[in-house]
Amino acid sequence: MTAYERPPDRPGLRLHLNENTAGCSPQVLQRLRSLGASRTGFYPDYGPAREAAARWFGVRGDQMILTNGLDEGLFAAAILALRGRADGEAIVVDPAFEVYPAIVEALAGTVVRVRFRPGFVLEAGDVLSAVTARTRLVFLNDPHNPSGARIPYPTIRAIARGAPHAIVFLDEAYAEFAAESFIDEAVSAFANVIVGRTFAKAYGLAGLRLGAVIAAPPLIEALAGIVPPYSVNVYAAEALTAALADRAYIDAYVAEAAASRQMLRDFCASRSLDAFPSAANFVLIRVGPGAAAVAAVMAQRGVLVRDRSDQPVCDGCIRITAGWLADTRTALGALEEALCAAR
Ligand SMILES: *Cc1c(COP(=O)(O)O)cnc(C)c1O
Repeated sequence: MTAYERPPDRPGLRLHLNENTAGCSPQVLQRLRSLGASRTGFYPDYGPAREAAARWFGVRGDQMILTNGLDEGLFAAAILALRGRADGEAIVVDPAFEVYPAIVEALAGTVVRVRFRPGFVLEAGDVLSAVTARTRLVFLNDPHNPSGARIPYPTIRAIARGAPHAIVFLDEAYAEFAAESFIDEAVSAFANVIVGRTFAKAYGLAGLRLGAVIAAPPLIEALAGIVPPYSVNVYAAEALTAALADRAYIDAYVAEAAASRQMLRDFCASRSLDAFPSAANFVLIRVGPGAAAVAAVMAQRGVLVRDRSDQPVCDGCIRITAGWLADTRTALGALEEALCAAR
């Protein structure tokens, strides 16, 4: 089993889970504080949140549902794809977000593993040659976690067209940072593509658990029949309308993330370390065979980063969140010390 292993909770600057370390917009907090007691007593009305989210993504109401984190959207898609199929297969491209194989195995499906080429290049042919008549689901992730690489749209199209009997789940958890999305094309040109989005990362709502899945209406109708009717809690729904009303806050974080990526890249260039080009709020850095030790020393200095050196294609790599610039400066101080200690 490959159950999702939550990294141990320890004190420190959290740059290991790609969270927005400042959390949500102050306007979100204000809205949450304004809710009276009766709101906790009633089942939530999703009307305003759904409308705001559909407008935000530029889709119609019948092309989207809100979910309890993107994780629930992934789960619902896997149930839709795999239910009643004892021999169902799901393709995962390694290195992958650990939740994908965990969900497939929880549903007794078979995980079929494909790999990125070195440098995190995804060849459509590598995925398509793993497709069989039993393939029910293909997970793609753009921008890709943990590398930050983009998956070119021609590649996504080729995979979706080459596996028309499967659901292609395109996980766009970090799309805000890339300022590009496949949503328009998915809803208009594909009957088998579901786009997943989350309000956990750019919007700073990870603790409230809120995501969305977007697809053509028949797929959305099927997913709506799987997601429990009240899985999004009332605070998350209220937080969403407030968060989406404060675009300036998200824009500011996205801009800081871009500056932080540049700062990390410059640091790595000056020390001849490989920093993979990233379109997300993190950077994967090849620090070498001492990656685990580097992450451990950084943790001792109060900066948590993710050791990814045990993942395919990631040998020697750590992943550092690239969000607010002040955090990035702190991280680079700790990284510098850790690199010296490792020498
Ligand atoms: C963080 C993350 C998610 C999970 O999002 P939640 O909304 O917190 O469930 C999904 N996919 C990827 C690639 C992620 O990094």
